Amino acid sequence: LQTKKQQQAFPRYARVNTLLTSTKEVCNVLCKISKESKNDKATMEFYVDAHVPDLLVFPPSLVTDVMSKQGEKEDKDSNAALTRQQEAIRDMIQSGKLILQDKSSCFPAFCLVHGFQSSNKHKQQVNQLNYLDACAAPGNKTQHLASLVGSLVNSNKTVGKRRKHPTTTITALDRDSTRLAALSKRMQQLAPDNNGQHVQVVTREADFLEAKQDDFAAPLGSILLDPSCSGSGIYTAPDRWTEKTSSSESMEEEETKRIASLAGFQEKALRHAMSFESVSKIVYSTCSLHDRENEMVVQKALDAVNNTEDGESKSEQWRVVAPKNLQNWNRRGHRVDGMSDRDAACMIRASAEDETNGFFVCCLEKISGENNADD
Ligand code: SAM
Repeated sequence: LQTKKQQQAFPRYARVNTLLTSTKEVCNVLCKISKESKNDKATMEFYVDAHVPDLLVFPPSLVTDVMSKQGEKEDKDSNAALTRQQEAIRDMIQSGKLILQDKSSCFPAFCLVHGFQSSNKHKQQVNQLNYLDACAAPGNKTQHLASLVGSLVNSNKTVGKRRKHPTTTITALDRDSTRLAALSKRMQQLAPDNNGQHVQVVTREADFLEAKQDDFAAPLGSILLDPSCSGSGIYTAPDRWTEKTSSSESMEEEETKRIASLAGFQEKALRHAMSFESVSKIVYSTCSLHDRENEMVVQKALDAVNNTEDGESKSEQWRVVAPKNLQNWNRRGHRVDGMSDRDAACMIRASAEDETNGFFVCCLEKISGENNADD
């Protein structure tokens, strides 16, 4: 585990909200200030992330620097260009053009939209299917999904493929009314409907375990499932990431019970997602480090849905697939009981060593009958 001191040295990530601006526009604004700088003092260094498109990587002190300057007058000794850059970033955060979001939590939406192989024949059809974010609040991944789907439609337009693209609907579902209301409010600013992007976010307050396919905009093709978890990968949670000093047996017992209960819900939710007839793509993710909430949940769900009660394989199978957009990401899943090396290698893990929160992502695809030979 990282100590708090090490964690503070991690970079800060800010995702460009492509529904409101573009990475080029944001970079131009910041680089223009650097170029105009008349003195030789350095301005802020930043770069575009190597794995997630439209994700900018800033120094660890970004938020403190940017927010603490709010309302302050520039003093004589300060670097004017740096201050102007900080102000520009603050304005972009406040207007929703830049969204502070840790790198690994950008993987689920990125994998759902760009991680699955699809033949040219099916590409157009797949791109027109609707999405469900099944445990959506407060909506970081919903908004990212909306940005990615919007860009996808736009890129089709640029290459002349798009004539009249139907609007893609993303349903953001959550059972917590307060959190869902906060999500709605955020989406009005961050993902306004009819913004020329052909994507709309609708919200739905419900228990996902009771939701049925007919409750959603048809045709529903993909589900993002990011259920409640222990959050053990979040280094910003102070009690979880500082080195363990003392822990009584009863506390450990409590934690074991809590994780077992979370894992029970996660497995139910994943199996429920797999039961939607029209859905053929699922991304399951958690910000937990525990195998029990990650690989073990996936393996149990696969065992349950792919086999009949007599232990025979069903003709329609769910299988784990490696996200094609993260081929150069080295940290992979842990092989747990019953899991093949192949499946473990298809899963994505992130840890503090990757300078991001601990995270788990698994892409699952439904294949039927003659198409289910392993590749
Ligand atoms: N995906 C969100 C994001 O990126 O902002 C974070 C989701 S948070 C980890 C888990 C969410 O699942 C919580 O908002 C919680 O209210 C919701 N949740 C838990 N059980 C649920 C259920 N049975 N049905 C629907 N939502 C549920």
